[in-house]
Amino acid sequence: MTIVALNYTGMQLDRAGAARNAPGWSEQQLQRKEARIVPLWRYQHLVSHPDTQATPKLVTLSLAEARAAQPNLGDLVFLGLCEQEQPFFAADFSSLSESDAGSVKPDCELYDLRRIGPLMDQGEASMMAYSRAMLYWHRHHRFCGRCGSHTESRRGGHMRQCMNDKCGKEIYPRTDPAIITLVENRPAPGEQPKCLLGHSKRLPQGVYSTLAGFVEPGESLEETVVREVEEESGVVVDQVKYMASQPWPFPGSIMVAYRATAKTTAITIDEEELDDVRWFSLEEVRQFGEWEDETAEFRLPRPDSIARFLVNSWLQDHAGK
Ligand SMILES: [Zn+2]
Repeated sequence: MTIVALNYTGMQLDRAGAARNAPGWSEQQLQRKEARIVPLWRYQHLVSHPDTQATPKLVTLSLAEARAAQPNLGDLVFLGLCEQEQPFFAADFSSLSESDAGSVKPDCELYDLRRIGPLMDQGEASMMAYSRAMLYWHRHHRFCGRCGSHTESRRGGHMRQCMNDKCGKEIYPRTDPAIITLVENRPAPGEQPKCLLGHSKRLPQGVYSTLAGFVEPGESLEETVVREVEEESGVVVDQVKYMASQPWPFPGSIMVAYRATAKTTAITIDEEELDDVRWFSLEEVRQFGEWEDETAEFRLPRPDSIARFLVNSWLQDHAGK
């Protein structure tokens, strides 16, 4: 299996999964003078020089710089060690004002990963995705799901523990699986290959994407593909083939991508989710405009998304036809 280098994958840090569980280990790492802190303000990152032609850079701080900006740093999340064993942590600066958070260092600005992600270096973009997903998880697990008591961060931020002695539940970071599928037709001899794309109300005008949905309890990923495609479009599929996966920290998912073949072609749109679903021929998809091109009638999914990877790989497989 080829591992596809999608955006938000390919983090270069060693997560040091075994070491970070040892008591006191991540605190020791934080005290090392080389330690770097990745500040986040309401899930946005500090990025330097985003408007020049050069690749934007993720801004990190020394522990002293981080404390100067935010004296009560709270619990930091250990992210990993870089090749030179330098430890990286994520810190939540959300209690600062937006202008204070944005001026922690000169010549930088707060950016949402959804805006800046496609422009970043792949390793940095994946570290941003990881830190964002971890801080989101902490913020949403401050109380125990079993007894409602307060929880505290442990193991460098990779576990939260319920502080009620009678409970003591350990809570671990989770990611929600979602499937995303490019459905292709079974072309009759002489017919062009076609794929099924939809326009969701959440997407900008003209952007058509592959169909997607969350996995429900008690369902395999392949069963989700069959169910979601039929629910959203009325099309029945089989031959569900795995293609690739991508962390999607908006806010805490992993997208698992498939290609499937249609057994039926008639479309019935789920109007709660989508306002249009269509079959597009190879030629029509080749004419789609870029994601940001507002003048184009039909536009491709955003370039950092796995939906775009699915469309691109379908086009490549039919190159020359
Ligand atoms: Zn509890």
